[in-house]
Amino acid sequence: MYNLNETHDPVQRSWVASANALTSDFPIQNLPFAVFRSAGDEAFRGGVAIGDQILDLAATAASGALQGLAQQAALAGRGDTLNALMALGATHWSALRLALSQALRAGSSAQAKLAACLVPQIQAEYAVPARIGDYTDFYTSLYHATNIGRQFRPDQPLLPNYKWVPIGYHGRASSIGVSGQTFARPLGQTLAPGATQPSMGPCQRLDYELELGVFMGTGNASGEPIEMAQAEAHIFGLCLLNDWSARDIQAWEYQPLGPFLSKNFATTLSPWIVTMEALAPYRLPFVRPTGDPLPLPYLDSAANQSGGAIDVQLSVSLQTQAMREQGQNATRLTLTSYRHAYWTAAQMVTHHTINGCNLQAGDLLGTGTLSGPTIDQAGALIELTVGGKQPLTLPNGQRRSFLEDGDSVVINGWCERPGAARIGFGACRGTVLPARGKT
Ligand code: MN
Repeated sequence: MYNLNETHDPVQRSWVASANALTSDFPIQNLPFAVFRSAGDEAFRGGVAIGDQILDLAATAASGALQGLAQQAALAGRGDTLNALMALGATHWSALRLALSQALRAGSSAQAKLAACLVPQIQAEYAVPARIGDYTDFYTSLYHATNIGRQFRPDQPLLPNYKWVPIGYHGRASSIGVSGQTFARPLGQTLAPGATQPSMGPCQRLDYELELGVFMGTGNASGEPIEMAQAEAHIFGLCLLNDWSARDIQAWEYQPLGPFLSKNFATTLSPWIVTMEALAPYRLPFVRPTGDPLPLPYLDSAANQSGGAIDVQLSVSLQTQAMREQGQNATRLTLTSYRHAYWTAAQMVTHHTINGCNLQAGDLLGTGTLSGPTIDQAGALIELTVGGKQPLTLPNGQRRSFLEDGDSVVINGWCERPGAARIGFGACRGTVLPARGKT
């Protein structure tokens, strides 16, 4: 885990004036990475958010403003994915962060060179930030697992393995998109209530899942597990993730091998990846409730106990088509925090590799739905509406059990703590379109 240093100091100010606004997601203490372009005919390339601007890494690498490891890292960030930068490792990421913090700081002699490397975010479009070789989705919220389990198995909501083994499944990378993604309501096979045979048609119980994505930096060789002590150094950073889920398809298909077509039609990420070093001020002790088993030794470490949790505050908001047409903002459905997860990012990495499985730079791990301890902190409609039985009423009077065509779901994330800057993840937005052949 990273120590606090001058890059986290809340007194630092940038010569990019918009970065100094207290409401900005991207102050100089954040410096997250994305892949962007500023016009349709320009090549995608790596960038770093500062205020309402993007520092173009290709232009920065050519500017002569950086040296040494930081320059090597900027060169690796020039391409249309961040994989090369991710593969360089924590020493390079840290060197680039320090160099950019110093160069973007008010009074820096690099201002003239880097000012020419800025692109307004309002002109940018984004791409999925890495070539994701493999995507694995975990299930790290005990509250989500219990809420869901209660609907399927009232007598035994939480299965006996939950507190011992981090549960996950291998997802699909090809349908992962970036904020702004739209997708058609999936078709699929479902068993209607009371029916004796399944039918095929548009999903009737479409849901979102509030998650964080964990982007792998350096991977591991096949057969060489990543131990807890090294796990965080292999993580490049975190992003927002919406794991769209077709609950009716899922209910029919999930036994015995788990989610399949109910999950793989679309997954939406925020464009921005916040580095683990930027998250250092917001760490919290990782404590299990009294009476719960301690993790097995291979999933435990002193550092994980003292600071394994991260207080990333997370919200989900919904904007229906009618709200959009009437100029109404998205309305918040949920506010929770990543601090409530039952398994940490380091435990996800270590468990994933304990059998010898090799992770690679750019691989994506989802945390699973990050529901908090109370029902208003739930990260999916299936929990908030108790399986659709208690619809939500929106401020304009519309009701929702599950998502309807035209609905946009927006996830936001941010960190704040006394004595530290407030940093944010930007937004992860996606919109449901009608099923193919429907209007
Ligand atoms: Mn999920």
